[in-house]
Amino acid sequence: MTQMTPSFLPGDDETLRTALRDVNTPNLLLVLATITGEDDWLKAPFLPAPIVAPEGSLFPDDSGGFSEALVAQIHEAAIRILGEVRDGRRTLGTAPDLERFQRMLSISTAEPVDLGTAKMLMEETRFTDRDIQWQPALEMALGKRTHSDFHVVIVGAGMSGLGTAAKLKQAGVSFTVLEKNDAVGGTWYENRYPDCGVDTPNHFYSYSFHRNPGWSGYFSKRDELHAYFEDCADAFGVRDRIQLNCSVQKMVFDASSSRWRVVYRDETGQIQELEAHAVVSAVGQLNRPAMPEIEGLASFEGKMWHSARWQEEDLAGKRVGVIGTGCSSVQLLPKTAERAGHTTVFQRTPHWVAPARDYYKPVEPGLIWALKHMPYYAEFHRARMILVFGDRSWPAVVSDPDWLDQSVSVNEANHVMRETLIGFIREGLGPKQNYAEACIPDFPVWGKRLIVDNGWYETLAREDVSLVPRGITRVTATGVVTDDGAHHDLDILILATGFKSNELLSPIEIEGLEGQSLADLWGDAANAYKGTVVPGFPNLFCLYGPNTNIVHGGSIIYQIECQIHYMMQCLALSASEEAAINVRGAVNSDYNREVQALSRQLAWGHPNVESWYKNQAGQVVNNSPFSLQQFWEETHDMDPTDFEFVEV
Ligand code: NAP
Repeated sequence: MTQMTPSFLPGDDETLRTALRDVNTPNLLLVLATITGEDDWLKAPFLPAPIVAPEGSLFPDDSGGFSEALVAQIHEAAIRILGEVRDGRRTLGTAPDLERFQRMLSISTAEPVDLGTAKMLMEETRFTDRDIQWQPALEMALGKRTHSDFHVVIVGAGMSGLGTAAKLKQAGVSFTVLEKNDAVGGTWYENRYPDCGVDTPNHFYSYSFHRNPGWSGYFSKRDELHAYFEDCADAFGVRDRIQLNCSVQKMVFDASSSRWRVVYRDETGQIQELEAHAVVSAVGQLNRPAMPEIEGLASFEGKMWHSARWQEEDLAGKRVGVIGTGCSSVQLLPKTAERAGHTTVFQRTPHWVAPARDYYKPVEPGLIWALKHMPYYAEFHRARMILVFGDRSWPAVVSDPDWLDQSVSVNEANHVMRETLIGFIREGLGPKQNYAEACIPDFPVWGKRLIVDNGWYETLAREDVSLVPRGITRVTATGVVTDDGAHHDLDILILATGFKSNELLSPIEIEGLEGQSLADLWGDAANAYKGTVVPGFPNLFCLYGPNTNIVHGGSIIYQIECQIHYMMQCLALSASEEAAINVRGAVNSDYNREVQALSRQLAWGHPNVESWYKNQAGQVVNNSPFSLQQFWEETHDMDPTDFEFVEV
């Protein structure tokens, strides 16, 4: 795996010619403009058509709308120019500056890319090194201080924990990672149900500072994702700092020493303690299975398991029940139904599922070659992926006050999407049109994260699959009773019922200044400034914390990197002031007032949406009210005046 595009080009002209068949032509033009430094590649006749995805596809047409003759001309020029680079007859032009980059992206996507987005993408592509904002300050502050002078404990070795470890290691900060599982990878280690995979293309769903040109599919499956995070632990050089099978029980801030005391159970079951100047909660939101509260559940005598605790079982000839119709259920159903004798899906609420004909598309060999070897290609590819799979749907989630019927949609674009998806439901159900009404949600599209389809409606349409769109009254020894009194006989029951996501950070007991408990403070209304810091809990950083989850699209790794960037600036401030930093209460209250006001105007704040995103009072606790771009701006520049210092 590589981090930056290497300039070594293996092979000959034929290798290039073969690879070019698989590359995106608008991106290739940006590569040529960068290598040569010539703007001719950004002018007519090389102006691409706007990005359009064929109906039902996730991926836009890669051709740029150019004629075959023009594409052939571009390829011949690319073979000549790249051949000169390969043979040492041409030196590479320098990476674009912000002004040129913004211009390039606007031309290549045929739509305006604003300055803020271009700045964010300069960092996401690593044309700009965002770490210079905190690294020199942190290194200077730490100077010759040793382990005992500044130590950080990270709880969790999933994507947040590994990302944090990478940056702390890079800055020479002493740290320990405590991980409850026997391997790294968090959610991608724990979830193993059939067809478990990601819903954002991996060229975006990966660390900006550790790209992987070798993804085999655009939407990788669990094993490949887990392997990526295992690779990260080695590539970041942090494996020796990770203690597996260690579950943190308690973290207490000691005001007299301005340090955290971290209590954990080690791999032998012994209780141990660590002292830390800062603690990072990297425990995720989706890792504690929620068992449904259904009468008689424990009395079921067949096999039963939660989707996140998958058990391999011979399903042939078995009557299998699946409770839940969220993302996990949608992903696991087709492969489960293929193997089972009969499958019954119990649906309390239907979800929106988006067509994705090219979901299983493998990454083309030529594209892998270009990502590995073609100078600048990987950078422009990532930028384009973020533009295409990031904030494009944002306008469709923001409520339009002039949109008259807000009962099932929040604006015109949102309504158009609703109508399109209803058409998709009817098409997918084929002969089982009697299921159609039950499959149409009464909440706006993007009220919950739109599920990427892997054959959901086609599977419901199978003869050996039944949809039961009813509440469950109880579970018996032999099956499930629904609210119409029907008993559904089952041999196996799969609980795809989600996670306990409202009790963020629990079951870890966390005590802050003056001994207050974070669980008591939050109840089911967790809130934090920038989703990351909490008043009264100095030098505690919550990654993937309250109001940071994304619904409209994009990669959670992107959100986490934004938070890590913010946190590293906080650590630099704490180290230089030689004091723990505590966000001011009023700053946090103002921020969260805005978070709640914004959330009410978004599709997932709609009154018809009942989800794990909301607490008992209907407040959105998990989701970010910001577009990806806005969250990058929110977290980009830490303001020291937001904090007070806790000195010893
Ligand atoms: P989920 O979205 O919370 O869905 C849980 C399902 O179980 C819902 O359909 C829910 O119905 C149902 N349910 C819960 N209790 C029930 C009960 N007592 N009786 C009947 N039905 C009950 O959970 P999930 O599918 O595991 O997904 C959780 C999150 O994980 C997703 O939102 C997504 O962010 C993430 N995820 C992502 C991927 C991916 O990226 N590809 C894959 C899997 C999961 P109601 O809707 O009526 O509550």
